[in-house]
Amino acid sequence: MPLPPLTGHEGVKTRLAGAHASGRLPQALLLTGPRGVGKQRLALWLAQLIHCEAPGGGPRQEPCGECRPCHLVLSLQHPDVHWFVPLELSKRGGAGGSSTGGGDADKQVDLVADALAEEMAARREQPLYAPVAGLASHPIAAVRLLLRRLALTPAMGKRKVFIVGDAERLIPQLGTEVAANALLKALEEPPADSVIIVTAADPNALLPTILSRVVLVRVARIADSAVTAFAQQMLGIKSKEELAQRVMVADGCIGKLLATDPPRSGQPDVAARFTEAPLLYALGQVPFQARGGFTDMLDSLAERLRAEAKRGGDTEKLVEAISRVMDARDMAQGNVNPQLLAAVLAEAL
Ligand SMILES: [Zn+2]
Repeated sequence: MPLPPLTGHEGVKTRLAGAHASGRLPQALLLTGPRGVGKQRLALWLAQLIHCEAPGGGPRQEPCGECRPCHLVLSLQHPDVHWFVPLELSKRGGAGGSSTGGGDADKQVDLVADALAEEMAARREQPLYAPVAGLASHPIAAVRLLLRRLALTPAMGKRKVFIVGDAERLIPQLGTEVAANALLKALEEPPADSVIIVTAADPNALLPTILSRVVLVRVARIADSAVTAFAQQMLGIKSKEELAQRVMVADGCIGKLLATDPPRSGQPDVAARFTEAPLLYALGQVPFQARGGFTDMLDSLAERLRAEAKRGGDTEKLVEAISRVMDARDMAQGNVNPQLLAAVLAEAL
C-alpha cells in the first residue's frame, strides 16, 4: 500500500519547494513541530520532490506522483531514500550495545539494516502507523549504517535523501564517540549528493552539537478541516460525533488521530497534570550517565505519586504511573541510558 497523501502543511511545502527549485535547499535540515504533526511524512514528500522526474511547474512545485521514482518513494522502496526510524533492538539480541570491536560492530550494522528493512516492510503493509513508543532508539549501529550509506554513490537518482525520524532518540553511548563525531561532521558538510533531514518534536531535546549544524524548519499543526477530511477519507469515520471528538483530540496532528482512541468522557486528565510537574521537567534534564542521581529522582517521583494517590487522585492511573516509575527504576540499574529512559517515562506519564 502506498503512503497516504501528505495532508496540509501548504505553507512549509511552498517554502521547501521554492528552496529546492532555486537550488537553495539546505543539505542538513531539522523539521520540528508537535509530535504526530507529520514531520516524517513531510520529509518523505520532500524526498519524493527531490527524486521526481516531472515535478509540477511554477514556484510551487509538487511531485508528479506518476513517475517511477515517485512510485518508489511512495511505496518506501526507493533505493536512494534512507529512512531511519527508532528501533527496539533489545528483542533482537542487543545491537544497541556500545561494543566497538570491528567484526562485532559490522554484525550490529547488519542487524540494524535487517531491522530497518523489516520495519519498512511493515509500514508498506500498514502505512497508517502510530507514533513510535517504548524504548525504541537509534542505536549507534544505525549511525554507522547511515554513514556507510552516505558514502555510497546514488543507486538510481542523482541524490540520496536521509531521513532520521524522532532524533531525540539518538542517544550518545560511551565508547561510540568516533561514530558520533562522524555523524556531526556529516551534518556539517554532507556529501554534495546528499540531503539529511532530521525530525524532532522538541529541538531542545537534541544534542546541542546536532542542533547547531542543521537548518531549523518549523512544521505547524494542520487545520481541523484537513484532519476531518483525512479521518473521513483514510479512516472511514462517518459518525459526526466520533469525527468531532477524534479531530478535537488530534489537535491538528494526524499522528495523534491515528494513535488515539476516543477519550472516555468525564475522566480528569491526570496524565496532563503530571507531565506539567516540575519534577518531570527535571527528569528531562538528567545528565547522561548520572545513574545515582537518576534513581534518587525516580524514588522521589514515586513518592510524589503515592502522596497524590493518598489525596484521592485517580487511583487507577496513579497506580499505573507508580508501577511505570518503578519499572524505570529497575531498568536504570541495568544498561539502559537514563536520558532515554527519562524521555520515555515522561512520555508514558
Ligand atoms: Zn514524479
